[in-house]
Amino acid sequence: MTKKQKKMLVRIIVAAVLMVVLWVAYRFFGVELIDENGARANVLLIREPIWFFLYMIPYGIIGYDILKKAFKGIIKGQVFDENFLMAIATVGAIVLALIQKSGDYTEAIAVMLFYQIGELFQSIAVGKSRRNISELMDIRPDYANVEKDGNLEQVDPDEVEIGTIIVVQPGEKVPIDGLITEGNSSLNTVALTGESVPREVFAGDEIISGSINMTGVLKVQTTKEFGESTVSKILELVENASSRKSKSEEFISKFARIYTPAVCFSALALAILPPLVQIFFMHSGSEVWMQWIYRALTFLVISCPCALVVSIPLTFFAGIGGAGKEGILVKGSNYLETLSKVTTVVFDKTGTLTKGVFEVSGVHHNLIENEKLLEYAALAECASSHPISKSLQAAYGKEIDRNRVTDIVEISGEGISAKVDGVGVLIGNDKLMHREKIRHINCHSVGTILHMALDGAYAGHIVISDVEKENSGEAIRELKKAGIKKTVMLTGDAKAVADDVAGRLGVNEVRSELLPADKVTEVERLLEENKSLGKLAFVGDGINDAPVLTRADIGIAMGAMGSDAAIEAADVVLMDDDPMKISKSIKISRKCLRIVYENIVFALVIKFACLILGALGFANMWLAIFADVGVMVIAVLNAIRALRVKNL
Ligand code: ADP
Ligand code: MG
Repeated sequence: MTKKQKKMLVRIIVAAVLMVVLWVAYRFFGVELIDENGARANVLLIREPIWFFLYMIPYGIIGYDILKKAFKGIIKGQVFDENFLMAIATVGAIVLALIQKSGDYTEAIAVMLFYQIGELFQSIAVGKSRRNISELMDIRPDYANVEKDGNLEQVDPDEVEIGTIIVVQPGEKVPIDGLITEGNSSLNTVALTGESVPREVFAGDEIISGSINMTGVLKVQTTKEFGESTVSKILELVENASSRKSKSEEFISKFARIYTPAVCFSALALAILPPLVQIFFMHSGSEVWMQWIYRALTFLVISCPCALVVSIPLTFFAGIGGAGKEGILVKGSNYLETLSKVTTVVFDKTGTLTKGVFEVSGVHHNLIENEKLLEYAALAECASSHPISKSLQAAYGKEIDRNRVTDIVEISGEGISAKVDGVGVLIGNDKLMHREKIRHINCHSVGTILHMALDGAYAGHIVISDVEKENSGEAIRELKKAGIKKTVMLTGDAKAVADDVAGRLGVNEVRSELLPADKVTEVERLLEENKSLGKLAFVGDGINDAPVLTRADIGIAMGAMGSDAAIEAADVVLMDDDPMKISKSIKISRKCLRIVYENIVFALVIKFACLILGALGFANMWLAIFADVGVMVIAVLNAIRALRVKNL
């Protein structure tokens, strides 16, 4: 509990104790006695004004801030809010008690008391889910160790330049993305990916910031600035997530804006019209005023919309927090809402359903030695971020001297043209060869064929092949089980490879040999087809598919493998690239939305029932308090369930 919450708790306890003591004392000292002659004698040992004064002590203790806020609201012209409702209702009840000389002020105090209990409860609940999110925030590194003259110096990660060697000791967070140059260790990435099994890393491995180094000392050469590092990107995402409102949240705040004044005026009408009618037409006495004013005040307490205003944003907040713990970053409540309506999931192949780690399975028809061809390939690819490029460099295995390469042009979806040692190198698929009008030999192996031309003459091809991620098939089955109607795979790769993978994974449709622009067209077609059914999600790694990530109803990016562009363009980021997380995120979103609807229906039904009872005079303040605070507490408890997503 925070200091503020503790203070509130003390206020609640003090006010409650005082209220009970006064109530008992009043019964004790305040009874009317009838003497033996039948005459009434009021034996109030303490006189009425003193009672009033005494009762105002707990009322003031528990309600002063509400009264102050209501007053401020009136001055500012923003009259109709919960504070106003509570202030009017309780002050009204006190005035009624004064006029009726009933001496019973407990109702007014109780309304404030329970309202504050509800508020305290809600603030604890919000705090709890906020803490869950800030556990994620715990990945923020405070410093980076840089070696200077043999000594380690702690510097602000912001000041570390690209290429600096930093030292990460056991127990420390990795502050900046980089490459391990020395040492090995195991990394705890649970805060990033939700994956609790430590990851073993060795010299030469890439390392992402935000993970925790557990065992060995690592020397890391930074490859990014702090601001561009994974950890900064994630924090930015998380910090912005709550500012993107869902439709349900917008609906509720609009609803409250209309609803609150509406109930205030209804209450006013309830206080004035029926008594006037009764007095004029039924010749009732003036006591009917009291009765109807009391009903109107009860009506006000019942109608407070706080259950909805509080619980719905809280549900989304909890849902985003729960997803975050599983390594699924959702950038806003609106995306959670869209996700819950997904009926079609479209996948990119490379890096999404497959590992994106190609192995060279053959080199054919080459006119120079294999080794030399691979060298040209690896060098020409030295600047590309495509998984093919990384794999070729790995297959080549030697240090790459970037100074030997000039004029690099990457033609997305086709390949690369560059000059290596002054020789013009073309590497890519048959589209590229057609375009450059180079006669090439078709290859019959199943695999991704990289044709190569040197100085405009065909030089042979390298066959590479990629493997599916272990659980891609399972992920697709899970999606179908979750009721996803259609799964589609789009790829720039050759038809043979695409069909082979698609067949094994069991996707419904496959389209191959697509250029990045074709993928957009294809997704637009699918969007049109799916329009009346639900929403379309696209899952990709952002390499050659960032535009599609933006175009789809919802873009899901592979965070670890994916490019920065993907993380930026996507609405949901899967930190550990695990395709199983796609169905998981959909399930989380559905649970969250189900809770939202449950709360809306529950709160509205109870409120309307109580409002009608209140207007008819069947509800007193105590029922009103339940309708307000009780409903809110139940709704908030229900909202917190959205945090629990582990076993979905
Ligand atoms: P996917 O849709 O499977 O992710 P891409 O659109 O990224 O595939 O690439 C499609 C095809 O374009 C690849 O299969 C490859 O033939 C060719 N290609 C793309 N980038 C490169 C590159 N850097 N080097 C060689 N070939 C490439
Ligand atoms: Mg791709």
